[in-house]
Amino acid sequence: MDILVIGAGPTGLTAANALAYKGMNCRIVERKNAPSELSRAVGIMPATIEALGELGAADPLLAEAMPLKKMHILRDERTLVYLDSSGNEFRKRVPLGLPQNRTEGILRDVLSGKGVEVEYGLSVTGISTTQDSALVSFSNNTSDSFDWVIAADGIQSATREQLKIPYPGIDLPSKWSIADVDLAGDFDPEEITLDLYGPDNQFSLILPIEKHRARIASSTEDALSAIKLPLDITNVRRTAAFKISIRQAESYRKGRILLAGDAAHCHSPVGGKGMNLGMADAIAAAMAITNGSVDEYSRLRHAAGKAVVKKTELARHLISSANPMAKSLLWLSFKAISSIPAVHRAFMKQWTAI
Ligand SMILES: Cc1cc2nc3c(=O)[nH]c(=O)nc-3n(C[C@H](O)[C@H](O)[C@H](O)COP(=O)(O)OP(=O)(O)OC[C@H]3O[C@@H](n4cnc5c(N)ncnc54)[C@H](O)[C@@H]3O)c2cc1C
Repeated sequence: MDILVIGAGPTGLTAANALAYKGMNCRIVERKNAPSELSRAVGIMPATIEALGELGAADPLLAEAMPLKKMHILRDERTLVYLDSSGNEFRKRVPLGLPQNRTEGILRDVLSGKGVEVEYGLSVTGISTTQDSALVSFSNNTSDSFDWVIAADGIQSATREQLKIPYPGIDLPSKWSIADVDLAGDFDPEEITLDLYGPDNQFSLILPIEKHRARIASSTEDALSAIKLPLDITNVRRTAAFKISIRQAESYRKGRILLAGDAAHCHSPVGGKGMNLGMADAIAAAMAITNGSVDEYSRLRHAAGKAVVKKTELARHLISSANPMAKSLLWLSFKAISSIPAVHRAFMKQWTAI
């Protein structure tokens, strides 16, 4: 079987790894000329690490990533909750912090070890499908037919558009922002800090991604000025503002083409699940192709995506709502999580599940 993976983001790289692991003949093409140095996703969930274990990527990820064992939640700079998940019962339940470009770098190295290299600087320019094969044209004026294609070409997926698969949902009007910074001083690289402030429940989040480096995220347009807590920033590597869309493809399959990752779904970064969901799609797509269960792929992954979008939206509404009832509910939930061990365990399980 000849299989093409479109896009060398985390989803495409995971799909190619899973196909190569199963001994499938696969190519992976990427429109960009070189790997990205920028990072969007910074949280890897334990379920993702577990799924990548067989593919040989878990150990190098674990060696580099920061285990985020503690969570400090503040309201107007005053501690609401301090959650410590360092105990042994949470050993496989804490998320990891790592810049997306490093996650991609590790996946690429592991893929290379399986004999597959990403073809950078090569875009898919046209795609169509019959019941038996997919016909693909490339930017170097060649074309080829494939038994299967996994389209991991991101939120603006041209594949999805060419196949006319609807991507219904909404685009939020406001902008959120991020900053990647180097830090000195008293910084705990295992602690996530979430500060909720102001009458409109704005937030700023500090999430370690290296020993002296953190991702700052904010529900305002300027992550750096949203930080109200003392932070010894020595260097700003990157700032960006972005809009959030909440959308899901109506179907993840057309003929011989499977959609995976942001090509199939997108939602707010609250909870840090988007990349993880895409990597889970990727493994499911590769397994469906190798074991002949493709008919089920769209139904099962659509349901999994829908559940994650629903939970993520609930969390986004709760943390950003100015409604006094929602604020009280959030506060009570935090109190219960921090004071009742069973609720703490249930929260970590829910949060880190994909
Ligand atoms: C600010 C921000 C923070 C986030 N934080 C988190 C987080 O902490 N945790 C988390 O899980 N998720 C997070 N996400 C979401 C996460 O970044 C995405 O879900 C993830 O990058 C999607 O991966 P992907 O491989 O599906 O798509 P992408 O990463 O977008 O990769 C698609 C690739 O396809 C290539 N491509 C596109 N068209 C073509 C073509 N025609 N031919 C060849 N190649 C093509 C593109 O160049 C690109 O490299 C965040 C998102 C944002 C915006």
